[in-house]
Amino acid sequence: MRTGLPILLAACLGAALNWPRLPDAAALDAPTERFSAARALKHVATWANAPRPTGSQRHAEVVNAIETELVRLGFEVDRQQTGRLTNLAASAPGDGPGGVWLVAHSDSVAEGPGAADDGLGLGVIVETLRALSADGPRHGVHALITDGEEAGLLGAAAFVATAPPAARVAINIEARGTEGPAYMFQTAGDSPQMLQAWGRSGCDAQATSLARTVYDQLPNDTDFTVLRAAGWWGYDFALLGGAWRYHTPEDTPANLDPRSVQQVGDCVLGLATAWVGRVGEGGELCTWRPPWYAIPPAYAQVLGGTRVVPAWVISLFGAAALFVLPRPDRRALRGAAAFFGAGLTVAVASGLLMAAAVFLWPGFMVRTAEIPEPRPLYFAAFFLGLGGLWLGRRRSAGGWGIDAPAILLAALAAVFSPVAAYILVPGAWTAALRLRGWGAAAVLPAFVAGLLLGPLYSAIYPALTTRMLPVLAMLPFFTLGWLFTKPAAKPADTQE
Ligand SMILES: [Zn+2]
Repeated sequence: MRTGLPILLAACLGAALNWPRLPDAAALDAPTERFSAARALKHVATWANAPRPTGSQRHAEVVNAIETELVRLGFEVDRQQTGRLTNLAASAPGDGPGGVWLVAHSDSVAEGPGAADDGLGLGVIVETLRALSADGPRHGVHALITDGEEAGLLGAAAFVATAPPAARVAINIEARGTEGPAYMFQTAGDSPQMLQAWGRSGCDAQATSLARTVYDQLPNDTDFTVLRAAGWWGYDFALLGGAWRYHTPEDTPANLDPRSVQQVGDCVLGLATAWVGRVGEGGELCTWRPPWYAIPPAYAQVLGGTRVVPAWVISLFGAAALFVLPRPDRRALRGAAAFFGAGLTVAVASGLLMAAAVFLWPGFMVRTAEIPEPRPLYFAAFFLGLGGLWLGRRRSAGGWGIDAPAILLAALAAVFSPVAAYILVPGAWTAALRLRGWGAAAVLPAFVAGLLLGPLYSAIYPALTTRMLPVLAMLPFFTLGWLFTKPAAKPADTQE
């Protein structure tokens, strides 16, 4: 039976159903208790319309304006001066240091106005505190506006150096782009209490345990890194879409998507509400973990909710795919050779594509915003990866082919890094079942693979940008090999 088409359709259906969506932006006249992107963007437009590096006149003016706004909402603002850094720590009158802290940085890079990085955070925090404080400043919710983030997380470090010990949960708001879905890409204090609060918050941002693995490999850091090291719990949010505008003059209020602001704001308001009263004075952080979560679980956003799976389940399923794999024979070597040959072809071809892009837009390695429209390059990289797989499939011998290494890779990853490998396991099962000749059964894991890989693909191309074209071309090669499985030899061939 030819099952290639049903498997492809199932995977596409899964990806389409679970492709990240953005909410409509709430208008200026939205109900007072709601978060309104339009209201937040009014702050962004006034505070983040020009560069404001630490120490500049513009930066001092913006810090003063934020302070005025927080005071107007009824909060007491502790202005902390450390050298030329000015942190603002705002709390409801009488509150101790414990509680939920909404964190953003007031400075920007000198190259651009930083509307998303981090005008977004400033606007979201002030609008969230306003929504929470209809009956006076909300107790247990604080704001921390740091300085010197771009120069090396200096303000956050200065703050934790002098902060009294207390149970604190940080909600940090950052940006590495100006549009697209909100990502909650790292947490601190992994525990069921964190996940419960996350569930209660109604936040529909993209959240996956894979992000932390990827993020740890990147040179980027946020204030959250400093807070986490100081023992705070919390959630780190960022926008990733349109990353070619990051740290450029294009990071303007006009380029900041109101729907993205709405999604971040809904999450911050929901999480602050979920945590208020459960942490801080009287509240405490519960570090207890059931034994099956002893290793942090894998989680991902699937069909509007965060699905959590214990790590050992991923390891078990990943390793089990090995047993469904047919016994290796001479053809296995040819298949592996086809895999490496095709991979090499993709690497070389994507390098040539990169060279062509540099030739066309000489400045783009320095300033990615010089590419007028990067999306065609993303598609080119994606189809280069698929082309490589197709090439590898043609050279594969029946039974074993380019997909076998993919199964081995998924099984290995599932054992060593289950929080990241969950994304590879359904594809490995699709390939393994097809290799066994159970193609019809492979439709189900193919659908699950589509569900899980859809959000990954929607995030990673705009996040890595065209600067990383070869990586973008290799990604389908390593994650979609199962779409190109050559089914097992027909029974007539295998009869002995
Ligand atoms: Zn930033």
